[in-house]
Amino acid sequence: MIRKIGLTGGIGSGKSTVAKVLLKYGCHLIDADAISRQTTQIGGAAMPAIQAAFGESFISTDGALNRDAMRQLMLKDANAKTTLEAILHPLIEEKISQQLSFARDSQAQVAVLDIPLLAEAGLRWRHRLDEVWVVDCLPKTQIERVLARSAWPRAQVEAVMAAQASRDSRLACADAVIFNDGISFDMLERETAALFRSQNLMICG
Ligand code: ADP
Repeated sequence: MIRKIGLTGGIGSGKSTVAKVLLKYGCHLIDADAISRQTTQIGGAAMPAIQAAFGESFISTDGALNRDAMRQLMLKDANAKTTLEAILHPLIEEKISQQLSFARDSQAQVAVLDIPLLAEAGLRWRHRLDEVWVVDCLPKTQIERVLARSAWPRAQVEAVMAAQASRDSRLACADAVIFNDGISFDMLERETAALFRSQNLMICG
């Protein structure tokens, strides 16, 4: 039986960095964010429904989702988020199910489902997972990291963080926490390896 671990964390927490470590350990990684992006790229499965629900101004000239326009709308209109999620979630779930079947076929021991908004999506994902691992750090560290890796203004980083689940509610859904603050990449990898082993999982590769 494949073990299904949900990996989540707020923006800048280091979730993608931990996911890369788990990939190196032989886990089958399922990236919900990448799947979500694919559905909204040129010719993506969600594009016809997005065009019908939101109109032409949310479609870029190349036919993909106009992410800036959608981000702006979602920051001021909670209904827009609900409408977009109602379009995206069933498509993302279908793709995740396909990838899980693929992971089972490949005899992988662990499937890591990298789901950025797992805490926000609540029970929708939880019942499909064996456990949830949360990558955590202080909010000020999240801001510093995102500012260092992108050209986003600070207000944009703070707005995204405010729209995500609070640190407390994310931690409340955790079966295990990887605390990634004030530690080097090496220490983060060691912390991840220790958690992996403590769950009787074997590091492969
Ligand atoms: P997320 O996927 O949660 O948004 P990332 O894994 O992309 O976060 O990490 C955000 C940024 O912080 C990246 O540039 C990453 O290299 C850096 N980072 C993550 N963990 C550490 C760490 N322990 N020390 C220094 N930089 C880190």
